[in-house]
Amino acid sequence: MSLDDHAEALASDLGVDKEEVKSDLKNLVEYSVPMDEAKQSLRRKYGSGGGGGSEPSTVDVADVTPESSNVTVTATVLTVGKRSIRYQGDDQVIFEGELADETGKISYTAWNDFGLEAGEVITAGNAGVREWEGEPELNLGESTNVAREDETLDVPYDVGGDADLSELRPGDRGVALDVVVAELEEKTIDGRDGETEIKSGVVADETARLPFTDWQARDELVEGATVHAENVYVREFRGVPSVNFSEFTTVSPLDREVDVSDTATRMDVREAVETGGMFDVEVVGSVVAVRDGSGLIQRCPECGRVIQKGQCRSHGAVDGQDDLRVKAIVDDGTGTVTAILDDELTAEVYGGGLEKAREQARDAMDQEVVADTIRESIVGREYRVRGNLSVDDYGANLETTEFAATNDDPADRATALLSEVDA
Ligand SMILES: [Zn+2]
Repeated sequence: MSLDDHAEALASDLGVDKEEVKSDLKNLVEYSVPMDEAKQSLRRKYGSGGGGGSEPSTVDVADVTPESSNVTVTATVLTVGKRSIRYQGDDQVIFEGELADETGKISYTAWNDFGLEAGEVITAGNAGVREWEGEPELNLGESTNVAREDETLDVPYDVGGDADLSELRPGDRGVALDVVVAELEEKTIDGRDGETEIKSGVVADETARLPFTDWQARDELVEGATVHAENVYVREFRGVPSVNFSEFTTVSPLDREVDVSDTATRMDVREAVETGGMFDVEVVGSVVAVRDGSGLIQRCPECGRVIQKGQCRSHGAVDGQDDLRVKAIVDDGTGTVTAILDDELTAEVYGGGLEKAREQARDAMDQEVVADTIRESIVGREYRVRGNLSVDDYGANLETTEFAATNDDPADRATALLSEVDA
C-alpha cells in the first residue's frame, strides 16, 4: 500500500479529511516512524474528535500488529481447539486456533462459544488484539460480533489442523494427529482438583517422536495403539514440544498403519540447535572437553541441585548425596552441545559405579580424579549421542539417553557416511 492508500483508508475509518491525514502521516513517516505506529498515533490524535473514531477498522490479517487496538477481520477459520482453563478461580471453556485470509494467518482465543467451525468464513467485528510472545493475537469476547459469510477465501493454508509431529510447535492448538503410542506410563499427580490419574509417554509418527500427556488417562491409549486424535494442543515441556490430550480431545482407532521409526532424528549440531529444542535427536561429534561439575558430585537432598562445598544455593548447608554425572562438550564442526550423562551412562564411560568413584577419590584425597579419569577416556574420541535437546541463553544441552563411541558401531557409521555421500 502506498502512503496515499494508507491515508485514504485511515481517513475514511476516522471520518476526517484525507489531505489532513496524509500530511500528518507523511510527517511521521519522514521522521522514521514505522507506518503502523504512525497510523496508531493518528488514530489517537483524531480518535476522540473525528466521527466514527472509536469504530474498529477493517483490516487484512497481515496488517494486525500487537499495537492495533480493536479490529474487524474477515477470515477463514483454520482450526478450532477447545480447552478448559481456570480463570479467576472458575473453570472456563475457551476456544483457540488460527484464522487466515489471503494475506496471512493469526492466532485467536474466543472467550465465548461462537460455534466456530474449521473451514467457515467469518467476519469478527470488534475483535481485541493482544500481544503473545511478540506476535499479535485476536481476542473474541463479549464485545465481539461474529457473522458468517457466504464467500470463500483463497487462503494458502490447510484447514482442519492435520499435522505431522515434526511440524508441531509450542502454542499450536486444535491439532489433529495420526500417531502410534510408542511408550506409556500411568501416573498419579497432585492436580488442581486433587489427586488425578494421568497417562504420559511418547507418541510417534512417520516424521518424529514426541512426549505426550493425556490428562484424562483414557482407556484407548495403550502401548502400541494406533489412533487418530483431534483437538490436541502443544506446550513446551523441558525445552521440547509436548502433545497434550485434554478433556475435549477425541481419540479414535485408526485403521491404517503408521510406519514409525525407532531411531532418533540424525542432525547436525547447528541444525538441531536452530530448532530451539528437540525430543529424541541424535548427533555425531567429538568430545572436546569435560566440563567442571562432572564425575563424582554431590546433590542437595531437598532439591537435587548440584552443591558446592556442602552449600545448596536454595537450602544452605546440607548433607550432600553422592552422584555421578558427565557434562561433555561435543563438537561436530557445525556447532557444540553439552551432552549430560546420568549416573548409569557415566558409570559406563568411567568403568565403574559410585563405590569405585568414592574409593578412587578417597585414595587420591581429591574427588576431581574421577572427572580426570573420564576425561582421559572420552576426550578426543567421536561419539554418537542421542537424547532430548533443550536450548536456552546459556547454550544447548542434550539430556543423553545413548552415548556410544562411533567405532563401536561401524554399521551405523557406514550408513551415516553413505547417506552423506548420497546427499
Ligand atoms: Zn537444595
